[in-house]
Amino acid sequence: MSPERALDSEPVEPAEPAEKYDVVVAGGGPAGSAAALALARAGRTVLLVDAGTGPPKVGETLVPAARVLLADLGVADRVLDSGHLPCYGSLSAWGSADVHAVDFINDPHGHGWHLDRRLFDRRLREASRAAGAEVAESTAVRGTTRRPDGGWTMTLRGGTGTADNPGTGGDERTVNCRWVIDATGRAAAIAVRCGARRQVRDRLTALYAPLEPDPSDTDRRSLVESDEDGWWYTAPQPSGGRLIAYFTDTDLPAAPSTARHFHQRLSATRHVSRWTHRDGPPPTPTATPRRAAAHTAHLDRVYGDGWTAAGDAAVAFDPLSSQGVLTALYTGMSAGHAVDAHLGHVHPDADSALAAYAHQVEATRAAYLRGHRLIHAQETRWTHHTFWARRQAQGRGELL
Ligand SMILES: Cc1cc2nc3c(=O)[nH]c(=O)nc-3n(C[C@H](O)[C@H](O)[C@H](O)COP(=O)(O)OP(=O)(O)OC[C@H]3O[C@@H](n4cnc5c(N)ncnc54)[C@H](O)[C@@H]3O)c2cc1C
Repeated sequence: MSPERALDSEPVEPAEPAEKYDVVVAGGGPAGSAAALALARAGRTVLLVDAGTGPPKVGETLVPAARVLLADLGVADRVLDSGHLPCYGSLSAWGSADVHAVDFINDPHGHGWHLDRRLFDRRLREASRAAGAEVAESTAVRGTTRRPDGGWTMTLRGGTGTADNPGTGGDERTVNCRWVIDATGRAAAIAVRCGARRQVRDRLTALYAPLEPDPSDTDRRSLVESDEDGWWYTAPQPSGGRLIAYFTDTDLPAAPSTARHFHQRLSATRHVSRWTHRDGPPPTPTATPRRAAAHTAHLDRVYGDGWTAAGDAAVAFDPLSSQGVLTALYTGMSAGHAVDAHLGHVHPDADSALAAYAHQVEATRAAYLRGHRLIHAQETRWTHHTFWARRQAQGRGELL
C-alpha cells in the first residue's frame, strides 16, 4: 500500500525550472523502477522519484516466473542473488481442513523467493541508476502543473531523510518533463488527480504481525489457511522469524485489531498455529497487528494526456494471488516501452502504443479475476458467512 498523502491540491506556481527530463516516474517500488529501467535503456532522460514512505512491505513472496521478467530487464542476478530466502513451494488448507502442497520443483523457473522487500526495491532503484536514470530517494512529487506546451512542471519535496526515516521535506525542487508515469502504488496519486477513477472491488484488509525467530522452524514454504471470515497466511522472513497475516473485510467484526484478539483467532486455526510453534503453544505476536489495504482495485483508464499509470496504481490484486510484484514489474516495464514509443512516435497512430499497453493491463486483470473467482469457488464450507458469500456472489456476477 502506498502513502495516502494526496498531492497538493492547489497547483504550485513554479520557479524557473533548471532541469528537464523526458519522463518523471513517481514512485520507486517495483513498477516505477521497471519503468525507469526500460526508459533509460531506450535512451530517455528519466527521473525516478521515490517518497520512501508507506507501510513496510513484509512477508511477500515472489513467484518463480519473476526471474524471467527480471532477466528481461537485465537485473535478475543483481536483484535476487542474495538477501532473500528461497521459497520451495506453498501449502494450503483451503476448501477442506487437509493441507495440500505445491512444490516448485515442478516449476520450470525453479524456486520462488521470500523477499526482503526493502532490499529488493533498493536494488531495483540502484539498477535504474546504473542504467542511466537519475534517482531521487526520500523525495515526493507534491505538485503537478500542466504547461501550455503539453509538458509538466513538477514540484518535488524531501530528499533530507532515508528510506527508514523519510525527511519531512526541507528541500524543494522544480523540474520539467514531457510525460509522467504514476507508480505511486494504491493511491494512484497522479492519475486520480488527472481525473481517472479508482474502481474498488472489495474491502479486503490485512492484519499482520511478526513472530520471533524459532531455530526449529526451517521450512521455507508459505502456508495459507481459510477460516469462516477470511484466511491466514504465514511465511518465513529473510531477517529471521515469520510473518503472520490475517485477511478479512474491513467492515466485518472478525477483523482483530488488538494483539490479544489476533492471538486468540490465531490459536483457533488448525494449521497456522501449529506451524508457528510445533513443540508448544503458539507464541504471542510481539506487536499489535498492523493494517494494510489489500483490496482488488483498478483505474477506469490507465493513461491520459501526459500520464500513464503502472503497478498497483493501475491495477491492484488480492495478495492471495501472489501476483502483485510480478504484475508491478510487468506493467512498469510495459508502460516504459509504451511511453518511449509514444514519445518517439514509433507508432503511426501516436496513441496506439498506449492503447496496446491499456489492452495488456486489461488482459492481465481479466486473467487475475478468472483465477480469483475459481479459487474462491473452491471454498464452500462457509458460504453462509459474509466474507465467502460476498466472493461467491461476485463470482456469479452479482454485487453484494
Ligand atoms: C498485505 C500484503 C501482502 C502482499 N503480499 C504479496 C506477495 O506475497 N507477493 C506479491 O507478489 N505481492 C504481494 N502484495 C502486493 C505487492 O505489495 C504490490 O503489488 C507491489 O508492492 C506493487 O508495487 P508498486 O511498485 O506498484 O507499488 P509500491 O510497492 O506500493 O510502491 C509505490 C512507491 O511509490 C512511492 N510514492 C507514493 N507516493 C509518491 C509520491 N507522491 N511521490 C513519489 N513517490 C511516491 C512510495 O513511497 C512507494 O515506494 C501484497 C500486498 C499486501 C498489502
